[in-house]
Amino acid sequence: MANALQAIRGMNDILPEQSFVWQFAEDTIRAVVEAYGFREIRMPVVEKTELFKRSIGEVTDIVEKEMYTFDDRNGDSLTLRPEGTAGCARACIQHGLTNKQAQRLWYTGPMFRHERPQKGRYRQFYQVGVEVFGLEGPDVDAELLMLTARLWRRLGLDRLSLQVNSLGTSEARERYRTELVAYLKTVYEQLDADSQRRLETNPLRILDSKNMQVQALLEQAPRLADYIDEKSQAHFETLCALLDDAGVDYDINPHLVRGLDYYSRTVFEWVTDRLGAQGTVCAGGRFDGLVEQLGGRSTPAVGFAMGLERLVAVLEEIHPDATETSADLYLVLMGEAASRAGLVLSEQIRAALPQVEVITHCGGGGMKAQFKGADRSGARYALVLGDEELETGTVMLKPLRTGEQQSAIARDELIETLTARLAC
Ligand code: ATP
Ligand code: MG
Repeated sequence: MANALQAIRGMNDILPEQSFVWQFAEDTIRAVVEAYGFREIRMPVVEKTELFKRSIGEVTDIVEKEMYTFDDRNGDSLTLRPEGTAGCARACIQHGLTNKQAQRLWYTGPMFRHERPQKGRYRQFYQVGVEVFGLEGPDVDAELLMLTARLWRRLGLDRLSLQVNSLGTSEARERYRTELVAYLKTVYEQLDADSQRRLETNPLRILDSKNMQVQALLEQAPRLADYIDEKSQAHFETLCALLDDAGVDYDINPHLVRGLDYYSRTVFEWVTDRLGAQGTVCAGGRFDGLVEQLGGRSTPAVGFAMGLERLVAVLEEIHPDATETSADLYLVLMGEAASRAGLVLSEQIRAALPQVEVITHCGGGGMKAQFKGADRSGARYALVLGDEELETGTVMLKPLRTGEQQSAIARDELIETLTARLAC
């Protein structure tokens, strides 16, 4: 064991005792997004580095310091995807999807960012992304938020709050940026080092600084809302009205900006108070300029991504005692002949009752050891097969979780009995 290798820091194994929570989250997400007509798209995990530079922006945290970038054997610079929107937009352009009718797409998979690992922040993490291409109105922005609100209900999540804001067009943002920088230069000495650096590179990101002193200085700063163009303003007002209609609660957070360059107009985040500092479980917005920026024809787009580790952590906090559903049947097989017959019997049960979970004891051993295995599996019943049962054409059904007596069942009545007992 001394030299046993460890996983890479910030890259987690998801063990069998956790995976049922993941599956619950993934199955629920899939059911909800498909109920809104979204279709799955799968992209490669590796893309050309240039794709992320062109879409996410050169002066973002991701591109500046978080990407896993390497030269492949041909000398091409490749990057493990840090997020899915860029690859999704690339795939849509490449396959002409953006020339067709509106696309409602979703994807899931691992993303990679070289961040400082901590609770809720990892170097390999999973996202589900949902993107719409070809629709520009606030109706689809509202639909995405209704979808997420429904998803939280279906997952049984509480204490999630929605923050929304509008970034306007990139021209409006450009005008605002100039004013913001002018103001922040007057208080330059009072900014923290991070904000001073961002003033040169990506000043809008200072707005979501976590530093209290910086936040206090921002109270006096020009407000993005005052610079937003009329059309974006109308878009935002309609979005808010649609959310009111749908009964989706939200707060307008004028300091909400997203880390990535490609956003325009609507931006939003769903935040929980259950996870401490890493409380954003879902974030997104509109990115009308991205497709054109990547060489496609101008196509409006909106989407979001949620972090599955954070969703799973919330589920585990709400339901700390949740356990996996266990097996229904455990076949205890005494002797060589029964071991052979038992494998065939298990297959017959699975064929007749596909929803029943059957574990066949493998590896032989005595009665006591096999029953121990049956107990550990959590199975509701043991089916015991030995020489005597083989001879009489029966099988012994022994309830494991109740005080009920075992009973001998004729082989040709077994499926019927199991159907009744397991209520399937
Ligand atoms: P943060 O402000 O937490 O760094 P972000 O703005 O970088 O988030 P996005 O790029 O918008 O996050 O990703 C969407 C979601 O993916 C986040 O809200 C979060 O739930 C999840 N996420 C992002 N980075 C990580 C990470 N390193 N580890 C785990 N989950 C992450
Ligand atoms: Mg981040």
